[in-house]
Amino acid sequence: MANKNSAKNPLSILSFYYWVLEIVIQLMILTVSSGPSELTAVNLRTKPGDYLHMPRGSTFKIAIFADLHFGEDAWTDWGPQQDVNSIRVMSNVLDREHPDFVIYLGDVITANNIPIENASLYWDQAISPTREKGIQWSTVFGNHDDAPFEWPMEWFSSSGIPQLRCPTTNVSYSGGKNCSFRGTPRLELMTNEIQHNSLSYSKSGPSNLWPSVSNYVLKLSSSSDPEVTLALMYFLDSGGGSYPEVLSSSQANWFNQTSQQVNPESRVPEIMFWHIPSQAYKRAAPRFLKGKCVGSMFNESVAAQEAEMGMMKLLEARPSVKAVFVGHNHGLDWCCPYKQLWLCYARHSGYGGYGNWPRGSRILEITEQPFSIRSWIRMEDGSSHSSVDLSS
Ligand SMILES: [Zn+2]
Repeated sequence: MANKNSAKNPLSILSFYYWVLEIVIQLMILTVSSGPSELTAVNLRTKPGDYLHMPRGSTFKIAIFADLHFGEDAWTDWGPQQDVNSIRVMSNVLDREHPDFVIYLGDVITANNIPIENASLYWDQAISPTREKGIQWSTVFGNHDDAPFEWPMEWFSSSGIPQLRCPTTNVSYSGGKNCSFRGTPRLELMTNEIQHNSLSYSKSGPSNLWPSVSNYVLKLSSSSDPEVTLALMYFLDSGGGSYPEVLSSSQANWFNQTSQQVNPESRVPEIMFWHIPSQAYKRAAPRFLKGKCVGSMFNESVAAQEAEMGMMKLLEARPSVKAVFVGHNHGLDWCCPYKQLWLCYARHSGYGGYGNWPRGSRILEITEQPFSIRSWIRMEDGSSHSSVDLSS
């Protein structure tokens, strides 16, 4: 009876709440005092934006759009028409494949061709087909996304500088009053994307990795138990544009620390995404001659990063790393085995950028039971080719 009374006493209730609050505060202190690296791990677990979910009774399908190159030659009729064509490619692929997720694998825009104040306008056009279908996506940067404007030489010939159309205000300018020639910085592009799109899983990577920006990891969780991670997808900024084309030593360290935290025993399969191929791609390519590769590989030679700062060594040492996906070389779409993993190209998806090879998209399909990663290329005309099992 006394206990019952005291439970109803408002002071006792208050002290109970203080007790609960005290525990919460202690837990928070414990978390913070366990060091910055563990704090990151806690963040990774609690942020809902890090989780993708395997649909029940189905597979998880990803479409990769690489090298869209929106915003080319906006002062001509040709440029905007390329963007219309690229939107058609994406819509066709999305209609045919119905992916659960889309990855924009860099060179979303050709910033060195864009003389407007805010290149996010073109960035936004490029993601619009995915957004309009309600599909979630994420992005990484390529070497063209934040490049400063390059003045075309012909503008200095007798034909002169054309009347620039700066679409921010839909007003024509001569004299470039409100046009910009500095390029839109990576941070600004990413902030604009994230702030205006609830379907975006993109992130501005840890600030200590600057000037690289798109560095983050997403988890694919099991359909039956959201606590079980089926696969980890790492996104990295391979540079270019405003700084050298490279995955830095700091990024390698970040990957090392992050993978140790989220996958300490290297048991969960890991998949990597960035734009510019590592130098290892040059070494993997000749294996095609031995019949181990799939896809086109003779249209051009591998244009690799400028240096190797340790990322590939880390990947080669982790049995859980299944595959790396890059864009950048518009004429290549091969997958080749390399050490214990696969090195793959996506497929040139955009009408912008060099090369007239038919456009398409690399598709990934992750199956839960038994676990597998399958991939193929879906072309704009609906055909498909180069199917490969990447989990073998
Ligand atoms: Zn490109």
